[in-house]
Amino acid sequence: MSVYHTLTAADAVEYARRHAGVDQPGALVAAEEVGDGNLNLVFKILDGQGVSRVIVKQALPYVRCVGESWPLTLDRARIEAETLLVHGGFCPRHTVRILHHDAGLAVMIQEDLSDHTIWRRELINNVYYPQAAGQLGEYLARALFHTSDFYQLPQHKKAEVGRFSNPEMCQITEDLFFTDPYIDHERNAYPPSLAADVAAIRGDGALKVAVAGLKHRFLSQAQALLHGDVHSGSIFVAEGRLKVIDAEFGYYGPMGFDLGTAMGNLLLNYCGLPGLLDLRQAADAREQRLRDVRELWLAFAGGFQALALEKSRDIMLAEPGYARQFLHQVWVDAVGYCGTELIRRTIGFAHVADLDTISDEAMRHQCQRQALSLGGTLILAAARIPDVDALVARVRQNG
Ligand code: ADP
Ligand code: MG
Repeated sequence: MSVYHTLTAADAVEYARRHAGVDQPGALVAAEEVGDGNLNLVFKILDGQGVSRVIVKQALPYVRCVGESWPLTLDRARIEAETLLVHGGFCPRHTVRILHHDAGLAVMIQEDLSDHTIWRRELINNVYYPQAAGQLGEYLARALFHTSDFYQLPQHKKAEVGRFSNPEMCQITEDLFFTDPYIDHERNAYPPSLAADVAAIRGDGALKVAVAGLKHRFLSQAQALLHGDVHSGSIFVAEGRLKVIDAEFGYYGPMGFDLGTAMGNLLLNYCGLPGLLDLRQAADAREQRLRDVRELWLAFAGGFQALALEKSRDIMLAEPGYARQFLHQVWVDAVGYCGTELIRRTIGFAHVADLDTISDEAMRHQCQRQALSLGGTLILAAARIPDVDALVARVRQNG
């Protein structure tokens, strides 16, 4: 293990030459820093023709978009690499490949996905990938099933819960998802015209009790090794292909959190579409998003059920009917977590471009208001929304 120092572009090239395992390491000659995320350094390592061959990603000891005043654990790089290695073992088709990692340097080398595009960008630009949602559902089914008690042997599972203990990153989620939006906090950000909507959320006791329940489950339910941040900006797509990246929030938590985050980002896009596209295009794209939400859940639930039938190792959890009952709880959680994602991305610390890039101010506020009202509805009604078709009906009702 090496002693931590921040890599320069030249260091990143040298590091990739030594550890990437490419055929002709000497062909790697330059590095370009491309990190557009909030947290880390990301270098593309280029050959003499300027073609990117591998990615070197390094964690900084603080939150990049805020600065050194917000220190953050370097262990997140180990968690990210090890989560992706575990998920990649069970779903190589849809997990970015980790070629090498070093916990001391908080660095990893990943396969280069420059021939893919970040899904959020495509969703905003109205480029439809009809297979993406189903592929994401397949990824979640495979990753979550194989790290759950259906499949992991109990002693191994408990050791894994320890290996993936990620307290500092979890605290970010605990605060940003489940606390800040419901109190007065300097990290929140929203326009004055949403003040009345925000006040209504903060004054709604029943809503806050439901959010408390979701937070409590996030704190206490070690169901499976979650990705922990599986929004559309952590997903690369290309025609017929999908790869998940950026798992530094990985930990053992409630499965519904990953499903809810993913569905929430599709629905944030749904809410933003009338401000991003003309009327007719927006209507078509909204139908695609509802289809995506449906495909995502059905692929996840169908995939999980099939794996549970075929591969469950605990003879009691394998009892016919149990997986279906468990998936219903995951569904109710997912609807609730989806609601919290809609709210926190609209009035909390980290926003999404699907809403924030809407140029017309009045339209932007209208779309944001819709995200808030849909979020509140889903959190409050989660237990009364029996399935994904009922969810789609609720979204349509919300306007
Ligand atoms: P952060 O953890 O800081 O959010 P990300 O892992 O999301 O960093 O990466 C930031 C950006 O770097 C991505 O949006 C993408 O443009 C680029 N990137 C990250 N990983 C890869 C990869 N494996 N291949 C190509 N580009 C990548
Ligand atoms: Mg990111």
